Amino acid sequence: MKRHLVIVGGSLVGHRAALAARRLDREIEITVLGAERHPPYQRPPLSKQLLAGSVSPDRVYMHGGNTAYTLRPGTVAHALDTSQKLVATSAGEVSYDLLVIGTGARPVQLAELPPGPSVIYLRTLDDALLLRSLFQEASAIAVVGAGFVGLEVASAARHRGIGVTVIDRAPRPLASVAGSGCSRVVQQLHEENGVEFLLGTAVTSWDPLTGTVTTGTGAERRVQAVVVGAGVVPATEWVEGELPVEAGKGVLAGADGCVEGYGQLGVAGDAGSWFHPLYGRYVHVEHYETAATQAAHLAANLLTDQATPLEEIPFCWSEQHGTLLQVLGPRSEYATEIELDTPSGKGWGYLENGRLEQVILLGSGANLDQWRQEITAQLRSA
Ligand SMILES: Cc1cc2nc3c(=O)[nH]c(=O)nc-3n(C[C@H](O)[C@H](O)[C@H](O)COP(=O)(O)OP(=O)(O)OC[C@H]3O[C@@H](n4cnc5c(N)ncnc54)[C@H](O)[C@@H]3O)c2cc1C
Repeated sequence: MKRHLVIVGGSLVGHRAALAARRLDREIEITVLGAERHPPYQRPPLSKQLLAGSVSPDRVYMHGGNTAYTLRPGTVAHALDTSQKLVATSAGEVSYDLLVIGTGARPVQLAELPPGPSVIYLRTLDDALLLRSLFQEASAIAVVGAGFVGLEVASAARHRGIGVTVIDRAPRPLASVAGSGCSRVVQQLHEENGVEFLLGTAVTSWDPLTGTVTTGTGAERRVQAVVVGAGVVPATEWVEGELPVEAGKGVLAGADGCVEGYGQLGVAGDAGSWFHPLYGRYVHVEHYETAATQAAHLAANLLTDQATPLEEIPFCWSEQHGTLLQVLGPRSEYATEIELDTPSGKGWGYLENGRLEQVILLGSGANLDQWRQEITAQLRSA
């Protein structure tokens, strides 16, 4: 009998794991269960080119799925029963032989800013389309959260001539991603492009009738839209109690992506954390390349019944005001920041116990591979 691979989450992990599995096995039955009504699409353009107007909505979809797997859109997984190998969904039970969890993450909601027609928590294509339509009329917006998504939206809005105020309770932008030296330069880049920052203060109220945002320091801004990018949490409630799940990290998996002791089952992308053999800890990454790489790696391990570990240094990118920002390695809260000698642009390194764990390059991508090798060498020698 044909084996059945079920992938829960019809986005990047769902698509990439399914394609990798199909390449390895022409016979296996592959079902992708996706909560959204859309087929898999790319999220990175949603906060950049789609808002700036340089990419149309029909260009964000991923290709090659139709012939490789069965997609069941609008199907929400509610629970997992590993003993029976069953996923309970909004459309009934689905049994599996092999299972990939790829349910990603969802935005953290702020009590002061309930989602509404002009308060957007940007995660999905539908969110981006709503925001894009608001951009057509807006002269001013507020962005709450100075992380990647918030800063990218700020950049896209400025390039459409819209006034932007970025509000964050942290004292600097990218506080959860970078050190203070990098944050300072990124803030400067935005200010040179006309972005206003209100930092070290949280939003205390929002009046949708007047479009007024008020912060803890009493600052008020009149805007036509509020975009919230206040972080995400793994969408793992449907497996909690059944699998090892840690707050903020999602489902915990070994270095091969499989959840130890639960048979032929694993997690990839924003929904989980893999043990990283070089960092020696569970690493949670909420970025594109890692989700795509883990999805294919896990599919190969599941289908071939192997446990090959993934040792790749996590990578992500962002683009703000036409400047590329690239990050190698996960953030460590206690790392020491040093400025790197780069031939162009700027760069920062982050040392933990004297070893280089993370590198951030702003506007200078040329020597990315060199830094990847350097981080790997230092982690191996420790
Ligand atoms: C606006 C935006 C811009 C980004 N830009 C960049 C960038 O420039 N660079 C970068 O490296 N990364 C970027 N990212 C991050 C990157 O897109 C994510 O890391 C990637 O999408 C993660 O893929 P995933 O498949 O793990 O999760 P997701 O893409 O979140 O997909 C998970 C899917 O599972 C579905 N789902 C959730 N729960 C259930 C359930 N119970 N049952 C069924 N389906 C369910 C969801 O609806 C969703 O479709 C960006 C993200 C966003 C939101």
